[in-house]
Parts: sequence; structure tokens; C-alpha cells
Amino acid sequence: MAQNGGQGGPPREWSPSSWRTKPIKQVVAYDSPSAVTSALTKLSSLPPIVTPTEIVKLKASLRDAALGKAFLLQGGDCAELFSYCADGPIDSKIKLLLQMSLVLIWGANKPVIRIGRMAGQFAKPRSSPTEMINGKEIPSFRGDILNGFDTNERTPDPDRLVAAYFHSATTLNYVRAQLASGIADLHNPLDWGLGHVRDKELQSKYQKIVHSIADSLRFMRTVGADTAGQLQTVDLYTSHEGLVLEYEQSLTRRLRHPANYTSAKNEGGGKGWYNTSAHFLWIGDRTRQIDGAHVEYFRGIENPIGIKVGPSMQSDELVRLLDIVNPTKEIGKVTLITRYGEDKVEKMLGPHIEAIKGSGHVVVWQCDPMHGNTRSTETGIKTRHFSSIFSELSLALKIHKQHGSFLGGMHLELTGDAVTECVGGSEGLVEEDLSLNYTTYCDPRLNEKQALELAFLVAGHYRE
Ligand code: PEP
Ligand code: MN
Repeated sequence: MAQNGGQGGPPREWSPSSWRTKPIKQVVAYDSPSAVTSALTKLSSLPPIVTPTEIVKLKASLRDAALGKAFLLQGGDCAELFSYCADGPIDSKIKLLLQMSLVLIWGANKPVIRIGRMAGQFAKPRSSPTEMINGKEIPSFRGDILNGFDTNERTPDPDRLVAAYFHSATTLNYVRAQLASGIADLHNPLDWGLGHVRDKELQSKYQKIVHSIADSLRFMRTVGADTAGQLQTVDLYTSHEGLVLEYEQSLTRRLRHPANYTSAKNEGGGKGWYNTSAHFLWIGDRTRQIDGAHVEYFRGIENPIGIKVGPSMQSDELVRLLDIVNPTKEIGKVTLITRYGEDKVEKMLGPHIEAIKGSGHVVVWQCDPMHGNTRSTETGIKTRHFSSIFSELSLALKIHKQHGSFLGGMHLELTGDAVTECVGGSEGLVEEDLSLNYTTYCDPRLNEKQALELAFLVAGHYRE
């Protein structure tokens, strides 16, 4: 495929393996190259986990989000573990994302696109390759796709690459089966569980939203607005950070485009390169170097992609990145996932919005209010304050408005379970509570009550 890499000069060839010629960050050193080769050979023979039809459908929806006609809700664990591939955690995450999306639809008055950070979010970039445990320096945990959290399992194991595929496929199979069996059937009453909201005024505000949603659903059923069965299920897409490029390459397939889809890549032959491991992949803040391996890999695939945008991103760098991964300026192809921190968003977001406006790119602006707001308690526990998370989100909403832009979505680390990892919210979790149920293997997640509350607050923002 001939495509200009955005650097000027002659077009550079792209292939699923062309990233191997570029400098790479977060590289993995395996003990046995032959075991890696056999794992990758196995992966290359396995069927796609997702299909071009689904990928293209999501990309079309994201075009709507880029144009302000839809809102993107993306959420899930920081580090998904193989052991989360079980009915309980999957069910609770589906239900939570569904409830949050209903609240956001009510608030923003637009369709909501749901993407789980799940069915493949197994790889973690780390700031340091090693850590000290009990006075001993050992390799850091890098996610279940590479090594184990148990200190005896920190050596990267190539068999985990294949295990990641099967856990992704099994998770998505169960998600699909549950959706087809009515887990998201809006004819069934939803349990909103607002009993924990101690502030009476807030509780009645949330209760009103819930009543309003229930009324709307009842009305739709009564007038027979459900003839095509639209209330029986919803779309839920999957996503992960595309960090382990060996894995991503093995699942990148040259496949026929869906009917009625014209690829912006214009490669001819009616086919294109699809990453079939997930519908949506993003480049992390640590691996987004213009000349690096990850950007090289990402520029060749048809999937919609995300780019994390942290406080070190320069405006001209951001535009150059977009020119490389999206030279045809396809609308909605790229989601910019901004994660500056509540203290930096005011300084950073406006100039980035203006730079993109001037470039002719039309992106989905998604706020990740988690990663710029991680703090450590005095005893060294990683946490995030609910108020900081909401503050970055509401500042992002305000700044977009000021610049004649709009927020197209939010990206959250959350779980459907009652964990105690972030402080604040209506439950009133404080630092002393963190040890009650602190189960994350990486960053602190919003629990189900905090996540739903955030959806209520964002919805309220739109309705004000
Ligand atoms: C993440 O999303 O878990 C993550 C590591 O984010 P970032 O790349 O923005 O630091
Ligand atoms: Mn994280």
C-alpha cells in the first residue's frame, strides 16, 4: 500500500509488519524467540474476533459523534485480567454501561455509542520496567497478555499472547449472547439503586432523571414505537490499547470491505487491512511518538482509532500525528482522548482545539478525566478524587463550548462492582475506606455508583 506517511517526500509502504522498522517504546524481551514465533503463527491462523461490517458500522457512528450528532461513552477496567472473563463481572459492566448511556441520552438528547474497554484490554504500558517488592527489584506487571501479577510470574510468557485471544473471544461471545438474550432489553425494569445518595436534594434530582427515562420508555412501548424490536438490545463495541504490536499484527487481516463502504485509503481491490482483535484501538500517551512503531502500525488499519493526548503534547505535533494516521481527513476516524488533569485542562485544551480547527481535521473530542488526576495517599495508595474527575469533565465541556466546539464523548476507568478505589461521590468514600475493597491491578476505577453518578452529573450539565 502506497501512502504518504505525512512527512513529505515519497510515499512510504505500509504493511502489518512495517512497524518493525521503527523505534519502539515499551518493548517486550522474551526469553524464547521460537516460542513467540509459534504463538504468533497460531494467532495468525485463528478467525477474526470482530468483523469489517461491525468495524465500519462503529466508524460511521463515530462520524456522527465527530459532527456533534452522537455521544461516545467508553469505559471499563484499566487492566482487564483473564480472571474477569466470567459471567458476573461481564454482566455488571454491560448493565452499568447501558444505564449510563440511558442517562446520557436523556441528558445530551443524542444517541450514545457504547464502547467497552473490555474483551482485550490486557496490556499495560508502565512508567518503569521494574519495581521494588520487599526490597527486591522485579519486572513490573505489564498486563495478563505479557506476564502475571503474581511476583513469581513476572517473566513475559509467549503463551499468554494466545491466551489473550481466547479470553477476548470468550468475553465477546458472552457479551453477544447476553445482548441477544435480552440483558439490555429496555422492556425490563432497571435497578437504579439510589439509596446511597445521602444528600436528599441530589437524590431527588437523580430520581427525577430516572422517572423521566422510565416514562419515556413506557411511552415508546405504549405507542408501539418498538415495532422493529429496537428496545430489545443495544450495540456494544470493544476496545483496547494497541500496545503489543506482535499481537495486533497477527490479527490484522486483509479482508473484503462491507458493501456500500468506500475506504478512504483507496487501496483498490475492494479489500483493506482490518485489525480484527477489537472494533476500536487506541495509542497510549507513552507510545504516540511521530516516528515510532505504534504510529506506523496504526496508520495502516481501517478501524476507527483513538490517540491519548496528555499534557506534553504540542499543538503542531498533534496536527502532524493526525496527518500521518488520517491523511485523507476522514471524519470520525480519529478520536482524540484528552487526559490533561483538572489543573492543566484550561491551559492545554483550547490551543489544541484551535490547532485542529485550523488543520481541517474533524475528530471526536473525548475527555478522559482519569489519567491526569491520579494521586497517591500519604500511605502510598493510588487513588483519584471524584471531584477532580468531574471537574476535568465539566471544564472540558465548558472549554469546548467557548471555542465553538463540543465534547464528543467520555473515556472512563470503571467497574460494575462495588470497589473502593476512587474517593468521593455520593457514597462519601474517604481515604480510610480505600482498603475495604481495593482490587485493581493497575489504576483506580470508579465503582458502579460513582460511574452512574458521573453520568447523572454530565447529563445535568447538558440540561442546565
Ligand atoms: C490507560 O488508558 O490505562 C493508560 C495507560 O492511559 P494513558 O496512555 O493515557 O496514560
Ligand atoms: Mn489506566
